[in-house]
Amino acid sequence: MIIAVDGPAASGKGTIANALAMHYGLPHLDTGLLYRAVGIAVLRAGGDPADESEAFHACGFDNALLTDPGLRSEAAGRAASIVSAHPSVRAALLERQRDFARQEGGAVLDGRDIGTVIAPEADAKLFVTASPDVRAQRRFDELQRTGLAVTYEHVLGDIRTRDERDSGRGIAPLKQAEDAALLDTSALDVEAAVATAIGLVEQRRKA
Ligand code: C5P
Repeated sequence: MIIAVDGPAASGKGTIANALAMHYGLPHLDTGLLYRAVGIAVLRAGGDPADESEAFHACGFDNALLTDPGLRSEAAGRAASIVSAHPSVRAALLERQRDFARQEGGAVLDGRDIGTVIAPEADAKLFVTASPDVRAQRRFDELQRTGLAVTYEHVLGDIRTRDERDSGRGIAPLKQAEDAALLDTSALDVEAAVATAIGLVEQRRKA
């Protein structure tokens, strides 16, 4: 079974995808990490994420980078969102994601274009969202816990910029697949969101 989980930043899609993978005993790929690795590789080489050829060259990053704690930073998220708009970068990362999705037994993948581009054939598709305010508050709390000095307004501004960039790009924009079930986590805690997600996947399996 292939489960595709898409949605905007801080919607809860990563937590939900992880929980679904545990529940169904499937491997999980957080595809945002691939774009974050490209973004960080460009930044560390002193390059500009907006430069397509520099970003494309960074797609050959060392796999060890995927476990680097720096990938979780806001700077990596911003750089990821810029490099991910380059068609050659998306093409370079495509097969790796498709191969993961099509492995024997299936997989759970989360990202922005899993249900639309990477695995349109997925057995169950979820589009996880939450209001920008709720997402910004979650990200703000998370950053504060790690001791980073940021303001809520700054985080909200960043979330809105990323939403616009991810939804407005010409290639593989963030959008709900026609056959994806919508899950709004604005008013749900983690437990309720995961339970709802499992319920939606079960409905799809039976349909
Ligand atoms: O999900 P995460 O916040 O880690 O993703 C970082 C950025 O990578 C997103 O803002 C988006 O621009 C890009 N991305 C993408 N397609 C994916 C996953 C992530 O374009 N499948």
